[in-house]
Amino acid sequence: MAASALLSFRSETEVMHFLDPTQDFAPNERKTEIRYDPLTGRSSRILYYPFQLPPKREYTALAKQTKGERCPFCNVDRATPLFPGELNAQGRFTVGQAVTFPNLFPYAGHSAVTIFSAEHFVAPTSFTPGMIADALLASQAYLKAVRGLDKSVRAYSINWNYLPMAGGSILHPHLQVIAGGAQTNEQREIADRSALFYARYGKKYGEVLVEEERERVERYVGRRGEVDWLTAFAPQGQSEFLAFFTQQDVDFFALSRQAWLDFGEGLTRLLAYLDGQGYQAFNAALFIPADPASGESLQLRLLPRVTLGPLETSDINYFKVLHEEALSLRPPEAVAQEARSYFGS
Ligand SMILES: [Zn+2]
Repeated sequence: MAASALLSFRSETEVMHFLDPTQDFAPNERKTEIRYDPLTGRSSRILYYPFQLPPKREYTALAKQTKGERCPFCNVDRATPLFPGELNAQGRFTVGQAVTFPNLFPYAGHSAVTIFSAEHFVAPTSFTPGMIADALLASQAYLKAVRGLDKSVRAYSINWNYLPMAGGSILHPHLQVIAGGAQTNEQREIADRSALFYARYGKKYGEVLVEEERERVERYVGRRGEVDWLTAFAPQGQSEFLAFFTQQDVDFFALSRQAWLDFGEGLTRLLAYLDGQGYQAFNAALFIPADPASGESLQLRLLPRVTLGPLETSDINYFKVLHEEALSLRPPEAVAQEARSYFGS
């Protein structure tokens, strides 16, 4: 069966008519496009308004103010907790310059922080594939140890709030690594829907989606190693990028340094694109299937975060918070077309 027969890219358009004061009250109209995610059926809205990002913020002064003595991540040995000996005899997981240590303020039974390096501020275009690979390898080593020790864990993720605008409370770049018995709403929905899809069609949703998007081209961004990058049809924010590890039966816990370097290569290209567009902050989450045979694919979701207008208005409002409906001012096809050039394809 062709991939397209298994996926539905459903959308509806509503048009509002009004008399426009900026055009001498002549009749005008604006459309709202409502799109439904092919996996979850969850809707989001594409708004066709003019969109301009505010000027970039300068972080040099803030970095200077907050680094060194004031930053626990600049003082890992002295200021961050140690894991109990049964999890790690040295107390922390170290790969290259990356270090994973317990989160003093946990979100689950297992909760850690991974810093990329001792560098207090890293601009988006200064991350290298090697830094990303080391941070993910250290996080992976932690989650592997957790999995070996605690059989009740069935939810794993690696998350990133980059910069305060995206929820980062410490400027020093860091990942948050979480494992526990309870899935988040999104983990549950992705895992359950992926398992249903797999039971129904005998194929992984992630693989079918990538195959389909590669053929359609319009939302496909590029491939590095065994990782495909694309934009989401129904974005859960201003833009939403997806990266799927499409290697057959990929197991997060067995991924090699080369696999993470390939992933880092794609991510640095995406960060270069975002920087070129004037974005700075973002949220990202790596959704890790607890069971690689479940039909769920290992995937990264990344959403750039912005403020809107002169009041620096939050890009998240009642729509997302209370209606669970995302608003986007950029069609995913236009975003993918721009990002594609950064992947050299
Ligand atoms: Zn620091």
